[in-house]
Order: sequence, then C-alpha cells, then structure tokens
Amino acid sequence: MKAAVLRELGQPLTIEARDLPSIGPGEVLIEVVACGVCHSDLHIAGGEWDLLKPITRLPLVPGHEVTGRVAAIGEGVDSLAVGDRVGVPWLHYTCGVCDYCLAGRETLCLRQQITGVTVDGGYAEYLKAPASHVARLPENLDFVEAAPMLCAALTVFNAFRKSGIRPGEKMAIYGIGGLGHLAVQLAREQGVEVIAVDVADEKLELARECGASHLINATTGQPGREIKKIGGGAHVVMVTAGSRRAYEMALRSLRRGGTLSIVGMAPEPVDLSTVAMVSGEYRIVASAVGTREELHEVLRLAGEGRLRCHSEVHQLDEINDLFGRMRAGGINGRAVLRIG
Ligand SMILES: [Zn+2]
Ligand SMILES: [Zn+2]
Repeated sequence: MKAAVLRELGQPLTIEARDLPSIGPGEVLIEVVACGVCHSDLHIAGGEWDLLKPITRLPLVPGHEVTGRVAAIGEGVDSLAVGDRVGVPWLHYTCGVCDYCLAGRETLCLRQQITGVTVDGGYAEYLKAPASHVARLPENLDFVEAAPMLCAALTVFNAFRKSGIRPGEKMAIYGIGGLGHLAVQLAREQGVEVIAVDVADEKLELARECGASHLINATTGQPGREIKKIGGGAHVVMVTAGSRRAYEMALRSLRRGGTLSIVGMAPEPVDLSTVAMVSGEYRIVASAVGTREELHEVLRLAGEGRLRCHSEVHQLDEINDLFGRMRAGGINGRAVLRIG
C-alpha cells in the first residue's frame, strides 16, 4: 500500500510502498477513503511539542481524521462488518479501567494510544484500529465531509461544552481555521453571539458565513479593547490558534468572571498576570479532543447538516506542499486528503 511516512522529526514525509497492517483479535483493517490534515500533524512531524515528542513513534504514518470502509475484521469483532463506513479519531485506544476512563473522562486515560502519533494513522491506503474505538459514520455523510469531524469538530464540541457558555451569552473565538469556523457554527447553533477574531480577512469572511455577528481583524490593533466595547467583553474566549500572542490578546477580551477556553497549543509558554486573573475572577478551562460519546454526537450533528466543514481536497502526494501552506496560514477551513 501507499503511505506518507515520517522517518525523522523535522524532515519532509516520504511517499512509500508498505505492507498492509496485519490485524489481531479485536482489531479491524480499514481501507482509507479520506484523511483530514490537522495542524497537530504539522507540529508532531516537526517535533515541536515537548509532551508528544518523546512518545512519537518513528517511522510514523501521521493522520488522525480518518474515514473509510472496513476491509477485514479480526477475531472476536462482532460490532462491525466488512464494508461498514467508519472513522478513526485521535483517541485510538483507551483502557476503560483507569480512574479517568471509569469517570467518563477517557481523553485523560493513562494508557491511551494516539492515532498518527503512537500508532500509524491515516496518511495511507489502509490502517488498522481497535473495533471498540472506531466510529460509525452517518449514511448520508460523505467521507471527505466526515473526516474533519473526527478531530476539528470533536475538539471544539468538547471545549464548547466544558466552557459552560449559555444561550444569549457572547463568545469570542480567536483563530478561524479548521477548528474555529466549526466552533462558530456550534455557537450559533446554541444561540450564542459570536465575535470572530483572526488576522486574515478571508477567514473572517468564512466566520461571517458561519454566523459570526462581529468580525475583528487582530492585525489592525487591540482586539481586546474592541471586544470590551461589545457589551463589556466576552463570557467565554476560545482560542483555537496555537499562538502565544493570541492567548495574550484573548485574556484581555474577557468580561469579568469570564472563562478562557484553551484549545490551540502554542509551542511556547504564555505569560499570565495573576493580578488580572484574581481581580477579574477568571476561569481557565482546557480541553483535549473528545470522548467516543461526544464523537457520536458530533457525527449526528454533521449527518443532520447542522455542522459543515469548509474544506479543500488534495492528493496524498501533495502533503509536504500542504504542510508548507498550513505553516503560512494559507488554508481557509480544512485540507482533506482523498486517498481511496
Ligand atoms: Zn487534530
Ligand atoms: Zn483508561
């Protein structure tokens, strides 16, 4: 099979011919049709995140927004059959028995495996996955449309829930990329007023199409000051941009008693004024992807047409060029590889 392989951190991927993965008991082999290209893939391949760098398996097939059809099932698998339309998310495996799994917080599982980080992912014609952690796709949802639901949409869905925002309140979203434009849709769906912040006008235009009421270009000044003028600031500020500067501006956009929702991962630490935190009684909530239950909910919303990813489609061979464009912020929405 054909696969895009990371042989060394910080180096371009190489397109290689590889053997098909062999499946064991409880596993399924999936013929990949599409795989979303997440910004995380770029940072993982670059070895830019301290916590993930030591656990990144090499050589590695990246990709954790995988959709396709079940091609073979391992011994003991009775929940899936050959031909089923499925998706494989970031959370590849969780143990089900640690304190976190038992408490319904499997994203924190101590024995988790991560698709496209600790095990091979979807930048390939086939991958294998445990049947227990494979999601079924709604019948009417196309493979390319479904792919970004597996990380981008799931991540903002979880963050949105954890933020505690209520209908009628204001949410500022910093970074209108793959995650951000889906966050705008979720917020509108829940009756939340959205303030979109980005440095690119075309991304702000996408936010407007998704239902944002206020658009702020962060390059033109101080977005915090402008957001404060909209009814005293945002109840929740969600940052999907992996940028330290975005976080610093975000903290200045909060209404007193507001919540900072951490989604985007900046490679460098962010300065925080404890004086400002205390005087504003701010809350900080971070969230990582989502559980299987949340994924089920996200796929249902997408199947009902209530959540739609703006995406551009590419071939597997284009991956290094795509990484280059993503680094420069040149993708509006999500890039998805069509593989099968
Ligand atoms: Zn991702
Ligand atoms: Zn666990």
